[in-house]
Amino acid sequence: MKPTVLVVGGAGYIGSHVNQGLARRGYPTVVYDNLLNGHREAVKWGDFALGELADPSQLRLIFQHYRIEAVMHFAGLTSVGESMAAPDKYYANNVAATLNLLNIMREFDCRYFIFSSSAATYGLPLSVPLAEDHRQAPVNPYGQTKLMVERILSDFAAAYQLRYVALRYFNAAGADPGGEIGEDHQPETHLIPIILEVAAGRRAALSIFGDDYDTPDGTCVRDYIHVSDLAEAHILALEYLLQNQASAAFNLGNGQGYSVREVIECAEKVTGRAIRAVISARRPGDPPILVGSAARAISELGWQPSLADLTTIVTTAWRWHQGRKAPRNDS
Ligand code: UDP
Repeated sequence: MKPTVLVVGGAGYIGSHVNQGLARRGYPTVVYDNLLNGHREAVKWGDFALGELADPSQLRLIFQHYRIEAVMHFAGLTSVGESMAAPDKYYANNVAATLNLLNIMREFDCRYFIFSSSAATYGLPLSVPLAEDHRQAPVNPYGQTKLMVERILSDFAAAYQLRYVALRYFNAAGADPGGEIGEDHQPETHLIPIILEVAAGRRAALSIFGDDYDTPDGTCVRDYIHVSDLAEAHILALEYLLQNQASAAFNLGNGQGYSVREVIECAEKVTGRAIRAVISARRPGDPPILVGSAARAISELGWQPSLADLTTIVTTAWRWHQGRKAPRNDS
């Protein structure tokens, strides 16, 4: 019997794809989510428990009921712009509530932790592609919260018996190629789903946040990674820990940057529709370029992204988008 994995935030975008991947590999899972941003119908595998990350008594009940051997943690707030405007929410949810989870894990002697960290922990790149040993100096509260948790994990690993992998995501995008789950944030803030909402006629236009950056076409450059490739890396990271490897951090990206304009062009080709975009002010907190090297994950985890191509990423997202009903208001 494979170890039972607690997937905190498993009703959300990335968590639901990881839960799917774990189930396919035969791992029993328990999804713990408050459904604030997640969706009950995205939990198609394993058990589900409704609860707050910040509530120790609810979390304790889960650990009492199941023999949880590993925890994967996706229950974070993820919008750079929002983190600039409301940092209190980000520190409370992404740092304080995560600390709560780690302490409950200690109570129950649960030692394996996979953490959703971020390329936002690097801040402004001194060179690209970014490697894991690049200095970490976030330029927005979202990135700060992810870095703080990385520091907590490192200290917990040294002092207690925790072993962890921090996965530094670049820009997760796309949807399950089988069409069972996809991205559904309310409100949506991420580039590719917003572009597709415009393509679908659900939104009049897209705002390009700044075209005066020091990048080839003036718009921000990001490294987009398919969410199913990302999910696969989590399972490999878990297996790496279970094989008694030391705690580590890995970048998960494709090493290829695309500007906002290039993503729009790609989406126009995929959808066959014109996508109206207007230039607006820069979004505070945005680094001009974030592109990562995943060489360490490829060599140490044996990770092999298979959906890396931007057209594939946008095509899977578009298929999911088209299969959806009208946008819901129930988050
Ligand atoms: N972006 C944009 N318009 C939007 C949403 C995003 O121009 O409506 C840009 C944003 O400034 C960033 C890139 O698209 O440079 C990716 O943003 P997203 O929020 O998807 O991910 P992030 O890079 O913040 O994690």
